[in-house]
Amino acid sequence: MKPEDFPENIRSYLIPGPTGRLTYQCLGCKAVFDIKKLLYTCPDCGQVLLIDDPDADRLKAISGKMWRRIFDYRKMLSISALKGIYRYHEFLGPIMPLDAVIYLGEGHTPLVAANDRLQQQVGVPFYFKNDGQNPSASFKDRGMASALSYINYLIRAGEVSDILAVCASTGDTSAAAALYSAYLSPKVKSAVLLPHKKVTPQQLSQPLGSGATVFEIPGVFDDCMKVVEALSEKYPVALLNSKNAWRILGQESYAYEIAQDLEYDLSKKVIIVPIGNAGNITAILRGFIKFFEVGIIETLPKIIGVQSDHADPVYRYYQQPDPDQRHFQPVTVQPSVAQAAMIGNPVSMPRVIHLVDRYNTLSGDPNVFFVRVNEQQIMDWQLKACRNGHIACTHGGECLAGLVTARRLNYVADDEVAILDATAHAIKFSDFQNMYFDQAFPPEFEISPNPDLINQPILVQPSGPVPAPEKPLLGTELAQFVTTVSESIANALDLKGKPPL
Ligand SMILES: *Cc1c(COP(=O)(O)O)cnc(C)c1O
Ligand SMILES: [Zn+2]
Repeated sequence: MKPEDFPENIRSYLIPGPTGRLTYQCLGCKAVFDIKKLLYTCPDCGQVLLIDDPDADRLKAISGKMWRRIFDYRKMLSISALKGIYRYHEFLGPIMPLDAVIYLGEGHTPLVAANDRLQQQVGVPFYFKNDGQNPSASFKDRGMASALSYINYLIRAGEVSDILAVCASTGDTSAAAALYSAYLSPKVKSAVLLPHKKVTPQQLSQPLGSGATVFEIPGVFDDCMKVVEALSEKYPVALLNSKNAWRILGQESYAYEIAQDLEYDLSKKVIIVPIGNAGNITAILRGFIKFFEVGIIETLPKIIGVQSDHADPVYRYYQQPDPDQRHFQPVTVQPSVAQAAMIGNPVSMPRVIHLVDRYNTLSGDPNVFFVRVNEQQIMDWQLKACRNGHIACTHGGECLAGLVTARRLNYVADDEVAILDATAHAIKFSDFQNMYFDQAFPPEFEISPNPDLINQPILVQPSGPVPAPEKPLLGTELAQFVTTVSESIANALDLKGKPPL
């Protein structure tokens, strides 16, 4: 729809211009820094940053009801820059001119309801929000759209030039970083650091295909992260890890979309999210807080973070009920099928601590919970989800296993509805499915495949002549081949012949 076709009182709000100002705020010493710099940690104390809108109160001049109408009407616009995460421009990057926005089709991923069969197994209604339907097939595109739009904005403003964007990754960050950087080539080049043999072949092929320089490093993600930090301290590179506060900002869109998709009614809703480097849960907490403070939503939904017992530092931290006794301790990770979350020392932990506290205070009651699941549960629930029409990857399976665990612990009541983050597409992690079906998991995973969930292709080998490349069968040989093969398929499927007409 064209802007002139909208109701008059909406028109002036439809297409946001650059307004306001943003600053980096240090979570440690509270210092504030100019947004025109590419900063990742506080130059004074080294702590992580969040992007702050010091004049956010101006957003309250518009009622929650009016904001809801603005976002709902924006859905009908055909303006590329407003089709993705910047539908929520005023909350995600008010300083961003729309012509600097990079839109590659991210965001507005579907909420897909679980069928009756799966809901009955779990005990409550739930949805997957399919973030695997983003362009590089994971939620990381949300944060990259934000970070690269911002870099594009700085390039256009003449503040920076010839950017070399780098990141360490468990696979999906690098796929997204390389994709969005490629769109801005040659002004932006990207280099990614991956832990050798700790990403799936699909995840390795993605940055290679986008033209990034790919380095495979011995060790796990936490080791790669240390190298990237050293690089960014010594050399002029743009860091695209979730240390980059612009990534967190873009990922807030996930919360805004859930609000909008549920008609802004979040009472009795439970959001379940896997935790690795903890950027995603940070963004989700922050997104709901921002909408709540402006009155766009009236209830803060319950948030449940899930970790595998093979990489559980956040879970362990919150096991201590007394906040004054809590002490963060990084863990040494063990192999996990939730490989993108296999992180022992999450970069965003200080952000999580800060925001969980604020979220619970605003909610009036504890409203953020953490559960731990095992590798077996993650795989079994992922496979069950996919057998019921979903495209959840292992981390989506982790969320579902987390929901089942949270039900058992009474964190989720009978009348609540859960929204599970299917953070990536199942095909990115199909190697784990293969290991399950081939019963080939190395013992460290502690997974013994359930025979009922195993599925294998059936090779049909007829006794007579068979076609081969460039050697097609003809005439009776072909007819014989078709008959024997279709008979063995009918046998395998236990098909009965059609009755005569
Ligand atoms: C990155 C990632 C996670 C973990 O998210 P964090 O923000 O690091 O906590 C979970 N699942 C998938 C598929 C990911 O790519
Ligand atoms: Zn500081």
